[in-house]
Amino acid sequence: MAMNYPVRQRSFKPPKDLAEYPVGIAFPAGHLVETNASWRSHRPVLDAGKCTNCRICWLLCPDGVIHTSKPGGLEIDYDYCKGCGICAKECRQKAIRMENEAL
Ligand code: SF4
Ligand code: SF4
Repeated sequence: MAMNYPVRQRSFKPPKDLAEYPVGIAFPAGHLVETNASWRSHRPVLDAGKCTNCRICWLLCPDGVIHTSKPGGLEIDYDYCKGCGICAKECRQKAIRMENEAL
């Protein structure tokens, strides 16, 4: 019997501008009804002096807890941040460091 392999329906064209990216999973926290940060061991700390406001971290945060509404910069909602470290790993400016909270 022949296998059914996935077929690419259309070619992918990367967005030319950040505004063209789909909203994706990076909604502001609000779809979580309880704070979930109590088991976090490391927290991301933003160095505003290094941040270029490229918003890659905002785009990739799986919990959507990095907010862009703060005038002049980003804000991390520590009530919902689970400390996964993706934002720090992906920041090209090394503007986010993970600080140990478990000590
Ligand atoms: S990825 Fe880094 S430089 Fe870009 S907005 Fe986030 S903290 Fe700032
Ligand atoms: S550590 Fe993870 S959950 Fe917290 S702000 Fe960074 S990417 Fe989002």
